Amino acid sequence: MKILVVGGAGYIGSHTVRRLNQQGHQVLIFDNLCTGHRQAVPSGQLIVGELSQVDYLSRVLRENEIEAVLHFAAFALVGESVSDPASYYQNNVAGTLNLLDAMRSSDVSQIVFSSTTATYGTPQQLPITEQEPQNPINPYGFSKLVIERVLDDYASAYGMAYAALRYFNAAGASPDGDLGEDHTPESHLIPILLQVALGQRENVTLFGEDYPTPDGTCIRDYIHVDDLADAHLLALDRLNPGTGLKLNLGSGSGYSVKEILDMCRQVTGHAIPATIGPRRAGDPPELVADASRARDLLDWSPRYSDLRTIVETAWHWHRAHPTGYGT
Ligand code: UDP
Repeated sequence: MKILVVGGAGYIGSHTVRRLNQQGHQVLIFDNLCTGHRQAVPSGQLIVGELSQVDYLSRVLRENEIEAVLHFAAFALVGESVSDPASYYQNNVAGTLNLLDAMRSSDVSQIVFSSTTATYGTPQQLPITEQEPQNPINPYGFSKLVIERVLDDYASAYGMAYAALRYFNAAGASPDGDLGEDHTPESHLIPILLQVALGQRENVTLFGEDYPTPDGTCIRDYIHVDDLADAHLLALDRLNPGTGLKLNLGSGSGYSVKEILDMCRQVTGHAIPATIGPRRAGDPPELVADASRARDLLDWSPRYSDLRTIVETAWHWHRAHPTGYGT
């Protein structure tokens, strides 16, 4: 297929671009490089542009006879969304509406959209199925939920075919060590722990020890970035005009912040000093996926998402690329 990957120079996008290329798809990447990395994608495939450039986007779609869009471009930090909601609504909602306008005016009707577990808020039942009510507790989650609803309406009214893939915690790096996680500033747990192991930080602060979980720290479901990439390729094959697929993408296993710390200590052999700090705004205590629907409908089975493999691949990347992509 001819595919436009919006936000394809970012963490999950770049891993997916590589899989698409390996499978022989014709891939173009549209990215403003505000958080993505030129070095993470083949240079001949990259178009640098903004989602506000609707006419330009339409031209890119038309001139390249694009058949489907994968849309990764978004701000995705819970805490930042609480302190700066305007950026989140502007980028994640208005930006996506622009992309959908460009797609409609170019007769491109297939899209795979990066949604999130944050659309569920604090779940009433664990593990979380797709039937769980969506009541986000932070602007990031709400911005993604708005687009899920928009896609529903566009599917009914305009025959759009979409998948909304609700990621749990993306983690790890490509096993060969070529691609990995590089955020500035870094806020995610595993990269921060590994930066301590590399001597780039003195210690890590664990955000809260008074949650209603066995060890008092938050529990998350970590899913390897290459397993997420695989699910996108499978979802592309299952798109149907006028309907949407909404699928949880997680491993089905939950680990507490302290369990992640322990695994990082084991893999790196470093003591990784930790202190306890206050809770971080917008963090629910426990998020674990029931991903059986994605496994059934997509015939998807995560290959790299046991915790040790996640941490080992991330460690391999961070050791080989201590300054990330070097930008
Ligand atoms: N966390 C932490 N210290 C850090 C970064 C994260 O204790 O320096 C916790 C965070 O509160 C959450 C978990 O680790 O419970 C995963 O956070 P991350 O930012 O990696 O992903 P998120 O769950 O926000 O998508």
